[in-house]
Amino acid sequence: MGTPENIILIGFSYTGKTQAGRLAAKRLGWDFVDTDDLVVQMAGKTVDAVFAEHGEAGFRDVEREALQKACSKSHTVISTGGGAVIASENRALMLRSGAVICLDSSPQKIVERMRAAKGEARPLLSGSNPLARIAALKVERQAWYAQAQRTINTDGMTVEQTADEIVRAYHTIASNKASKMVDTPAHFADAAYVVETKGGVYPGYVGWGILNDLGKRMREVGLSGTAYVFAETPVFSKYGRKVLASLKEAEFRVDHHFLASGEANKSLASAEKAYAWLASKQAERGHVIVAMGGGMTGDLAGYVAATYLRGMPFVQVPTTLLAMTDASIGGKVAVNLPAGKNLIGAFYQPRLVLADTETLATLPKREVIAGWAETIKHALILDRQLFTDLQGLVSKLLALEPDATTATVRRSAAIKARVVSEDERETGGPRTLLNYGHTVGHALESAFNYEAMLHGEAISVGMAAAGYLSSKLGMLSSSDLRAQNDLLRAFGLPLQSPPVQRDMLRQAMALDKKVAGKAIRWVLLEGIGKSTTRNDVPDALVDEALGQVVEQ
Ligand code: NAD
Repeated sequence: MGTPENIILIGFSYTGKTQAGRLAAKRLGWDFVDTDDLVVQMAGKTVDAVFAEHGEAGFRDVEREALQKACSKSHTVISTGGGAVIASENRALMLRSGAVICLDSSPQKIVERMRAAKGEARPLLSGSNPLARIAALKVERQAWYAQAQRTINTDGMTVEQTADEIVRAYHTIASNKASKMVDTPAHFADAAYVVETKGGVYPGYVGWGILNDLGKRMREVGLSGTAYVFAETPVFSKYGRKVLASLKEAEFRVDHHFLASGEANKSLASAEKAYAWLASKQAERGHVIVAMGGGMTGDLAGYVAATYLRGMPFVQVPTTLLAMTDASIGGKVAVNLPAGKNLIGAFYQPRLVLADTETLATLPKREVIAGWAETIKHALILDRQLFTDLQGLVSKLLALEPDATTATVRRSAAIKARVVSEDERETGGPRTLLNYGHTVGHALESAFNYEAMLHGEAISVGMAAAGYLSSKLGMLSSSDLRAQNDLLRAFGLPLQSPPVQRDMLRQAMALDKKVAGKAIRWVLLEGIGKSTTRNDVPDALVDEALGQVVEQ
């Protein structure tokens, strides 16, 4: 697909798809189609009657045909039913046929709008607790809604404003597509997300127990030959056998290379050992490196893949929460120098990311807690609904309950994928927002020599500091700041670091690469789910914030 010539609106019922979609079509001079209307036309009866007579399966059959009919058009805004995204066939068709935009609303707002739409029998409103039912159904479908190229929250928006936002979102998606000239293959429809950058288009799969699919998925993206699995010994001993079996079944020749554990080994010396090993195996450009492990493994193996033979294909198989929701997505690969972290690296996109959430079961508890910090960050900077859902899921996520964990990792990873697709090289676009909490966080990691605090813990304290600044600058309400800090605390994340000299932190912050010119570029919140950057934060206020978040 070049420039998309349709807009496909997905999202829960009563989020505004029909009304705002119709108006957006009018503004663009396009046609408008509602797939529910097509179902009525094709079946010769109301949607409720189709449900009553043929059950949900019967309805979904007619809906699929209706969607096919709608997608065969061009210059059309297509509003789809809330459940149309469930079938992978439908999702593939949508991605092929236009710009996919999700309209989202809170469950409260949806119930309000349903109640106001008098006279319409809505099965979702029956029963004793429609709000809980709608909230649960939304969480269930959210991973599919998150595949949209843009999401617009329509709470508090008029139909006119929503239509304007749809048109604006369409133009951004269309210009991104035109400049990248990328194509999204249809078989990515099962993916939790698709990253689309100039450096490559690739799917990310997230599921419980999907490690067995690795070989098959690698074949689907056109990989073959020898697969070199790079992993730390403890990770390989747990999951290596499964991975090798899956690769062999898909007719890859296999071999594996052990990496020494720990951040100190994300080094040029380790890269050199890997080059020598690959040379001894006579690795070729068409072979594949598979990085299985946490962010350390992904960064190091990815760096080796980017540089050996001027680049070999590589695949990310993240096994930590941090790697699944963050490090494996977006193609930043690097090794450390004694002078600083990640100083040598490249932007080099993997061909595929496959995250088996079942592997998290063996992760130490402290890593699990720290891992959720990045997901909380994604919610804080871009997704208020995810934030609300996280508030209700704390105990399930800490216990790594399979469904909640998988759905949440999918949503968090999809946010990262969307952001890097818009701003692959962090050139002042949305990728900068991912640095929320990182200015102070990186300084703390460096001050503690990457030993006393895990990345997620340092970022948590960094978010407490950035939240404090946002609030003091009058951008963030005190109740939103409290909500942020309460959620971090509920996950067992720290809001304060152990004592450390503030001068050291200030120096580390000045050295951090997010300094534009001389002033530090802070990522701050304007509300939960809404972030921006500022480079005019007074030093005195920064000192005050450090005073709040560093134990005396
Ligand atoms: P890590 O890779 O060091 O892994 C943490 C520990 O968990 C290790 O001891 C590892 O052996 C163990 N482990 C991994 N998976 C396991 C499993 N399933 N069961 C049991 N143990 C397991 O740490 P991390 O937090 O995943 O990643 C941190 C690294 O990621 C840093 O080097 C950081 O710079 C990098 N990073 C990169 C990006 C990026 O965009 N490239 C983003 C964020 C962080």
